[in-house]
Amino acid sequence: MYHEIDLEKIELKSEPPAKEPDRQYYFMAKCREWVREFEQKNGRSPLAFTQTFGCQMNARDSEKLTGILRKAGFVEAENEQADFVIYNTCTVRENANLKVYGHLGRLKHEKKQNPKMRIALCGCMMQEPEVVEKLKKSYRFVDLIFGTHNIFKFAELLAKTLESHEQIIDIWEGTEEIVEDLPALRKYPFKSGVNIMFGCNNFCSYCIVPYVRGRERSRKPEDILGEIKTLAEEGISEIMLLGQNVNSYGKTLKDPISFAELLRRVEEMEGIARIRFMTSHPKDLSPELIEVMKESRKICRHLHLPLQSGSTRILKAMNRKYTKEQYLELAERIRREIPDISLTTDIIVGFPGETEEDFLETLDVVQRVRYDNAYTFVYSKRTGTPAASMENQVPEAEVKSRFDRLLAVVQENARAQTARFADTVQEVLIEEVNEHDPSLLTGRMSNNLLVHFPGDPSLIGSIQKVRLESCKGFYYMGSLLPK
Ligand code: SF4
Repeated sequence: MYHEIDLEKIELKSEPPAKEPDRQYYFMAKCREWVREFEQKNGRSPLAFTQTFGCQMNARDSEKLTGILRKAGFVEAENEQADFVIYNTCTVRENANLKVYGHLGRLKHEKKQNPKMRIALCGCMMQEPEVVEKLKKSYRFVDLIFGTHNIFKFAELLAKTLESHEQIIDIWEGTEEIVEDLPALRKYPFKSGVNIMFGCNNFCSYCIVPYVRGRERSRKPEDILGEIKTLAEEGISEIMLLGQNVNSYGKTLKDPISFAELLRRVEEMEGIARIRFMTSHPKDLSPELIEVMKESRKICRHLHLPLQSGSTRILKAMNRKYTKEQYLELAERIRREIPDISLTTDIIVGFPGETEEDFLETLDVVQRVRYDNAYTFVYSKRTGTPAASMENQVPEAEVKSRFDRLLAVVQENARAQTARFADTVQEVLIEEVNEHDPSLLTGRMSNNLLVHFPGDPSLIGSIQKVRLESCKGFYYMGSLLPK
């Protein structure tokens, strides 16, 4: 098993192997050598700080970054006062970029205090050519810049950065490659994200993801099942299968299998109690998938089904490939087939050309689907996307008022939907001590609702029965059922 490789046994006098991931383990050994010298000089191990911006795909990538740093001998730091700092960036909305520039401003100051520190940037924002030009020109203190397609090459780039004082930039246009078996430091010992595919071919007209994450490529089912087997052996009981559009899973495989078939195989895995997945595009959510969810003992009763807009005219302009009617039919079918399912969604307000009538169509869908919750966003112009050059950008004041009206309806529905579980007993995965009241534990139901209840922290990571006593709008207070 690669993660058990002893770096000390790797021969560094020879040329680095060409084959992956062996080549990366060679460079992890090179970094280990640099860490040894640092420890001799400074009497301590070097500190590394990893900051993740954005989605669960990025969080999963960051587990690989921290896994490689740990394997090389770095110790995790609490903040940017470290010898190595890496930001795994997001660019899904303009303010994500602004946040990173804000952090870089602070880092510049840190580097003045510690000129030997190394700074690296990776992730989606680095796939934007204008961003890299700006960094080259105005952020010379950043030592390493790489993108989403060559994240597997982190150890090699880190080794080069530790040896050089030049700014290293390595951005790939795209890749067919999927490199397996790199070290990963999982954030939670009881649940974990598992990538099943990378990239997206949908090109929704407002979305930057296809331009920064590239074309869809699916991992082999045996690699996914192999990873899940190892996770189960390590005590993980809940997994989240990750893809920009999991419904497209398998299409690029030599022997294609459907996402529904993959779920059937994961269902058979020993030791895994709960299966979650994200994100499912409404355009190709198959009846087979609904059937597999219905029959499953392990697939959680939560489905995230992004709507984005309720207006068929706007959906066309967004290139979403479904109509209002098709979406409603799908949502009704899912609720009919799986009555205890929780449905959540994403909605964009203020897409170019959106009229009051279009917006009322969105409100109509929200009222009819009665979402358990919804993530609502104001349209954010992303350079390079078709929507960015569309006419009729909606006036800010109008967008704001629509956003507030939508939020009110969403919250009203979410409260009503949440209340339907009152006085029931639910299985809850206990995730942490409550951040506001240390006498309480926080757990998550199968339908993704949060519950807070008194309990011993030794129960964290286990699934327990909890009675839901009082509904607090979007979450519950409850009590553990005695064993
Ligand atoms: S499905 Fe659409 S919104 Fe989702 S990542 Fe792909 S292009 Fe973006």
